Amino acid sequence: MSSDYPTIGRRNLVGLGRQALAEEMTAFGAEPFRARQLWHWIYHRGATDFSVMTSLAKAFRERLAERYEIARPMAAESLVSSDGTRKWLLRFADGQEVETVHIPEEDRGTLCVSSQVGCTLNCTFCHTGTQQLVRNLGAEEIVGQIMFARDALGEWPSSRDDRKLTNIVLMGMGEPLYNYDNVARAIKIAMDPEGLALSRRKITLSTAGVVPMIRRCGIELGVNLAVSLHAVRDDIRDRLVPLNRKYPIAALLEACRHYPGASNARRITFEYVMLKGINDSPAEARELVRLIEGIPAKVNLIPFNPWPGAPYECATDDAIAAFSEILFAAGYSAPVRTPRGRDILAACGQLKSASVRARRSRPEPAAASGAC
Ligand code: SAH
Repeated sequence: MSSDYPTIGRRNLVGLGRQALAEEMTAFGAEPFRARQLWHWIYHRGATDFSVMTSLAKAFRERLAERYEIARPMAAESLVSSDGTRKWLLRFADGQEVETVHIPEEDRGTLCVSSQVGCTLNCTFCHTGTQQLVRNLGAEEIVGQIMFARDALGEWPSSRDDRKLTNIVLMGMGEPLYNYDNVARAIKIAMDPEGLALSRRKITLSTAGVVPMIRRCGIELGVNLAVSLHAVRDDIRDRLVPLNRKYPIAALLEACRHYPGASNARRITFEYVMLKGINDSPAEARELVRLIEGIPAKVNLIPFNPWPGAPYECATDDAIAAFSEILFAAGYSAPVRTPRGRDILAACGQLKSASVRARRSRPEPAAASGAC
């Protein structure tokens, strides 16, 4: 099933968009409606094996199985927090790993999806930035995280109305706008009403501010935008988010101001990590209000999630409350993000690092499993 490594030589059909799947089937000598049937089995029913596809002739299923597979990543680690948050370390065919997190809430369930192995941005408060290896995830690896979660949560077919996985945030490891093509292919599959059937209104892409890609993201995907702002002055943001040296605050906010599809009903989220003595003063809250004026916006205050050796501390509860109050008084919704899954190392990148450390300290790489 899903936990098997893909067999070398068979092509994974997961990750092919509608058009690409139709072309693949034409090249395989199948009629066009076969591609539609396959699409339904793969993305609506969640089939992992051709043998269950009873609307296809047996001989055709066997031919498909010789040439293709429907593979997901496998879970190298699987943790459940006391608050219900689940965190998986998912391993791909080449052995690389990323984190995927499911956060259940009363009225929804959000899956936090990764877009790259590691990250090139080196934000100084982010644990993922300390990891060496970086590669883009393929579309099949991005959409594969969602399909894996559907498997684990028992959420097929896509039409179920009691889904625990209702929202997607591209807020895991990596910078999604540095892997735009694969992210876009994966999101289009996720949004297809006959596919994974997740509405674009329930999908949020979080970026550190790759300004030239923001407009395209809005036009082509129309998903909600979250921007990791974290500071109101360029000298501070240069330190926290080094990408700011390339795309400074003014340019970033200008792109946000013109984000296609943003409105009062669909606000841009500004993420702001609260770091003690760095960016958490009332004056900075007031400057934030001034900066985002005119942008349909909400602010998400994130208590810093510490990791061993981190050069920052979380702002105090009082400082966070005062900051939030100033934004609220200016008319902005500014909820403080409740830390979730702290007992299972939920800070981005921590589980992966723990797994890599565990493996290094053991003689047999294959022995890495269990506790971090
Ligand atoms: N590269 C994208 C998406 C990944 S990071 C981006 O920068 O938006 C997702 C969010 O988690 C970002 O807002 C990031 O700044 C924040 N984050 C990373 N490490 C954190 C930590 N240790 N504590 C709190 N927030 C953190």
